[in-house]
Amino acid sequence: MKRAKLSFSNIILIIACLVVVVSILFLNVINTRNIITLKNSIDTLSIENKNISILRTTSDDLLNAELVFTRFAQTGEIDLQMVSAKSVDKAIKNLEVLKTESDSGRAAQITLQLKKNQSLQTMIAELNMLSTQLKSKEVAITNTMQVDSMGQLLAKYNQQLKQVLIEEDAFRENLNATIFKNAVTGTDVIQKFFWVSLLIILFIVAVLVYNIYKMVNYENEILEAREKAVKLAQVKSRFLSNMSHEIRSPLTAIMGFTEIIDKIEKDDEKKNYLHAIKTSSEHLLSTVNDVLDFSKLDAGKLKLEKQPFHIASAIEEVAFALSSTSAANKGIQVNTIIELDKSLAVKGDLFRLKQILYNLLSNAIKFTEKGSVTIMANISGKTDKQVMIKIAVADTGIGIPNDQIKTVFEEFTQVTNNSTSKDTRRAIKGTGLGLSICKMLVELQGGTIGVESKLNQGSVFTFAIPYEIANDIVANEKDQSSMNTISSSLKDKRVLVIEDNDVNIMLLTMLLKKVGIVYDIAKDGELGLQLFKDNSYDIILTDINVPKLTGDEIAILVRQFTDASKRNIPIIGLTATIVQDDLDEYIRSGINEVMVKPFKQDELYATLEKYL
Ligand code: ADP
Repeated sequence: MKRAKLSFSNIILIIACLVVVVSILFLNVINTRNIITLKNSIDTLSIENKNISILRTTSDDLLNAELVFTRFAQTGEIDLQMVSAKSVDKAIKNLEVLKTESDSGRAAQITLQLKKNQSLQTMIAELNMLSTQLKSKEVAITNTMQVDSMGQLLAKYNQQLKQVLIEEDAFRENLNATIFKNAVTGTDVIQKFFWVSLLIILFIVAVLVYNIYKMVNYENEILEAREKAVKLAQVKSRFLSNMSHEIRSPLTAIMGFTEIIDKIEKDDEKKNYLHAIKTSSEHLLSTVNDVLDFSKLDAGKLKLEKQPFHIASAIEEVAFALSSTSAANKGIQVNTIIELDKSLAVKGDLFRLKQILYNLLSNAIKFTEKGSVTIMANISGKTDKQVMIKIAVADTGIGIPNDQIKTVFEEFTQVTNNSTSKDTRRAIKGTGLGLSICKMLVELQGGTIGVESKLNQGSVFTFAIPYEIANDIVANEKDQSSMNTISSSLKDKRVLVIEDNDVNIMLLTMLLKKVGIVYDIAKDGELGLQLFKDNSYDIILTDINVPKLTGDEIAILVRQFTDASKRNIPIIGLTATIVQDDLDEYIRSGINEVMVKPFKQDELYATLEKYL
């Protein structure tokens, strides 16, 4: 079985979705990193601001101390020493703060800058000394050397702090620029990602639209193909119905006349020829039936019957029929090992069971040159209401090669490449439908079927079907001897025959004459209806496919007559169609019973007898 594959556009769609997922994750990582960098920069800025402001205050204090001291140096006012000392003290305090923070971040750099020129410790110590001298008011204005050195010290430190502050301002400007740049880069990246995402989304939308377009196209194609398939199925069923009609119609005549001549012919040689015609016709009929059965099963249109029957005798009947014909001809023994109670009755489709058995048994005989064929039947499971019947058909024939055993139940299959039995198989022709019909029939009845086989040793086909147990069996098999009495009850009955085919008219009239039935013939529907109006008949026997008015149309008109004795006349339809829908339609039109061609003489008499 072919498996559906992902289309190219679907693969692209999946890849695009994966790209989107990865891009979103990547975008998140980049954005998180941007945000962290920005946060760090802002943090750095806030710490730096604090230290810088300390440094500025320190610088202001020292400048103030220097100015006051200069005024002292000019005026000699003693109090100015005290004012200058206070400013120096304030500066020392700030320098102490800076010193304690010296091991963290930006403060460390500032301290380092200061240290480059002068040890912070020395600076604090020298300023402390200066402050103590000023406070003790020991400094004499006259001691110019001392005053000068103190003034120089203050000027030196002021200069140093100024320098650090200039550098600091430059650094800050730099930092601001970096932060700004980071922010701009971050925004740029986010914007780029936005455009990339937009492109990817547009691409996905395009792929989606393309996929939807393709899907709609596929759907249309599927719908078209479905419509075609439905039409084709109708054509097939019509064709089968027509083919069936075309083959069955002449077969009716062939089989009917053969049967008639066979009954009167005494010459053995001619009888042999007649049997050959009979066997060939029957073979042809069974082939047509197989094809029709297969088509009905294939379309799920085959309906199963549910009638009570004795299962053991059903199996025995098929075994007997084949053992006395094809098996006997080949000198093959047919054995039956039926482990079923003769009185066991089940409800189901007797005809279909016989069909399965007939198929398996005739295959077994067909593919066995010497030895025997054995039918075994037993109960493989039972409940109060149901019984599982298991039937096996074993032969000692050519067998089936291992590599082909799995396909034998498939339609039109015929085992071919078996070197040892090639000629045997080639000589045996068939449609290759028998086993697939068996399988479908068994499965339709809720059962299973299987095969085991050994090349040149034989095969065993086994199937099991669950049947409902029937407690109220009605004798449904017709007593064959009663057939002989039929003819007398039909004598002098009046039958209207509507049939356009001359050969069929000949056959029907011969059969009717044989039992003393009086008849009129109409070769089309309108003439038939006219004869019906003008005369009195006991039954109408009409072919369905007659010109002017078809058999079912005649039935519809007859059922509308006001005269009850005319309106209720039994109508038997004759058709070569076995399409169930058509048959149902004929019954709905008012036909009492439809006889499918070809039919046997006795069948015709029995049906007539039922309504007369
Ligand atoms: P056919 O009409 O060709 O017999 P079937 O569906 O009945 O079609 O069988 C399919 C193929 O399976 C046969 O052609 C034959 O090769 C193989 N086959 C069926 N039954 C037997 C058997 N009893 N022994 C050997 N081969 C068999």
